[in-house]
Amino acid sequence: MRKFSLLLTLFCLALSARAADNAYHVALDLTKAADRRLSVEVIAPQLSETEVIYSLPKMVPGTYSIYDFGRFVEDFKAFDRKGNSLEATRIDTNSWKIEKANQLGKITYRVRDTYHASKEDNPIFEPAGSDFQKDTCFVLNFHTMIGYFRNHTKLYYELNITHAPKFFGSTSLIDRDNSETQDQYIVPSYNAVVDNPVMYSLPDTAHLKIGESDILISVYSPGKKASAAGIARGIDTMLQAQGKYLGGKLPVSNYAFLIYLADHEGLTGGYGALEHSYGSMYYLIDGTNETLASTVRNVASHEFFHIVTPLNIHSKEIANFDFDNPKMSEHLWLYEGSTEYHAHSVQVRYGLISQEEYLSAIRQAMNEAQFGFNDSLSFTELSLGALDKYKDQYTNVYAKGALISMCLDLKLIKDSEGKYRLMDLINDLAKTYGKDKAFQDAELFDKIYSLTKPDIKQFFMDHVIGAKPLPFQEVLGYAGVDYTKAKKEASYSFGGFGVGFNPETQRLVVSSLKNLNAFGKNMGYQEGDELLSVNGKKLAPAEFSAYKAAWLKTVKDGDKLKVVVLRKGTNGKTKKKTLQAKVFKAETITFNVISFSKTPTAEQLKIRKAWLEADNK
Ligand SMILES: [Zn+2]
Repeated sequence: MRKFSLLLTLFCLALSARAADNAYHVALDLTKAADRRLSVEVIAPQLSETEVIYSLPKMVPGTYSIYDFGRFVEDFKAFDRKGNSLEATRIDTNSWKIEKANQLGKITYRVRDTYHASKEDNPIFEPAGSDFQKDTCFVLNFHTMIGYFRNHTKLYYELNITHAPKFFGSTSLIDRDNSETQDQYIVPSYNAVVDNPVMYSLPDTAHLKIGESDILISVYSPGKKASAAGIARGIDTMLQAQGKYLGGKLPVSNYAFLIYLADHEGLTGGYGALEHSYGSMYYLIDGTNETLASTVRNVASHEFFHIVTPLNIHSKEIANFDFDNPKMSEHLWLYEGSTEYHAHSVQVRYGLISQEEYLSAIRQAMNEAQFGFNDSLSFTELSLGALDKYKDQYTNVYAKGALISMCLDLKLIKDSEGKYRLMDLINDLAKTYGKDKAFQDAELFDKIYSLTKPDIKQFFMDHVIGAKPLPFQEVLGYAGVDYTKAKKEASYSFGGFGVGFNPETQRLVVSSLKNLNAFGKNMGYQEGDELLSVNGKKLAPAEFSAYKAAWLKTVKDGDKLKVVVLRKGTNGKTKKKTLQAKVFKAETITFNVISFSKTPTAEQLKIRKAWLEADNK
């Protein structure tokens, strides 16, 4: 164990009180992990009921997906204080009913890790899951292994973890045990159990200071190509900019980036991260510090801004999260949309990306929202239905959600002649509400209307609650940015097919032929074709856009484009097929074309400056 001494913070001081006797005492022994399984022992708090239900959560905050963590539990047993068995019955996937609960001493069970579950069986987004690799790394998202007794989620938890001496536990929690092989963390509630993952691995950590806040970066890289020091170098400038963006002071005094790099894509076919109040957990594909830099920057920027929403502004649904029966909020435009917006806005305002690069990120979001999702669905309805009815629309929170925030930012800037931005509105909301004061889901819009001019109310009514298309031309016009919804021109392309992703095969697919141009017709794409290689180069899904952009820069008439696809025949069997044709400029409709106006007015330039340039660089 290496003690982490810079975490003497208000938060942690509050947690460093001894756990009251009426607490959960949990023991996990990582040295005894076997067959991707870990034994869990929970010494129960004092219970007065004669019957109690122990549950693992159905869902956890930030994932917006029902996972049923109880399905990873095996061999559940309950004992009284003398060690005699008590009757325990599994009543559903996540819950066990225990008789004579007033005599309950402890429960024991084993859990499987989620990284090695079956792909077909509703795989868990890796940053919310668990990995038990005895010799190299343990990802401990405690909600995958520890539960709660119903109606007893506000009690302290003492987490005791035994580990090999070579392992270091990275977390934003304080380790209260000085032993080389024993760590002890104390948290005040089940919410905090969920909110504080720990990653155990051979130590590779780095530290940064943002304002007064201490930042830990911990990296597990199986190929050892990336390092905590390298990743820290890659995000330092951005985090400093985020500190300034938030007014020079972060709302947390310590924060941990736990970065797990995998040597293959995960079960869910993606990568990403999950936010917590004092840190974020990452699952990314292993690479070098250089190849990872921009992905880490974009993802970390997003997760880090979650310290504002939902940590500092959230509704009762989040503050009193119902782990058995989760309810959705209508404000994903704020929790995820504004977070994603700020993640890019900070980069342009502080010069980490150019203004042109920023416009192309906006354009990408516009295309995603228009072609990847139902663009005429009310965003508050999408939010409320994200777990079930509109599950397939959820990812639009990162595209349309961010664009809603962009429109709102530009409107606020225009209304105030550059003096009041979206970040100011969010800061004002954080003053009214806050970490310990949640809002009623239905009252937030009225609060926003009371702080802003009437056109903002109209904007929400029309474009967030209502389903009218976002007014890009109008709002981008404020800043002297020209917008054209669809532009016909002859240009080079791969043929104009829609690109989708098949998580099962991990390949890109031809998802739509709707906008196929004459060149695409010559190529002969068919819907459902899975892309294997382009011009002889095998492409990982993440590399496709960059390859295409590079190809478009050098291609000329008469060059050949050769795409190898996997195509399903009428007999259901898949076969490799080579598609090729001579390249020419085909009439193509380009959607969502945006560019800086060549003749902006002084007023437009003023708004553009307030939108894209920070005044405290
Ligand atoms: Zn997020």
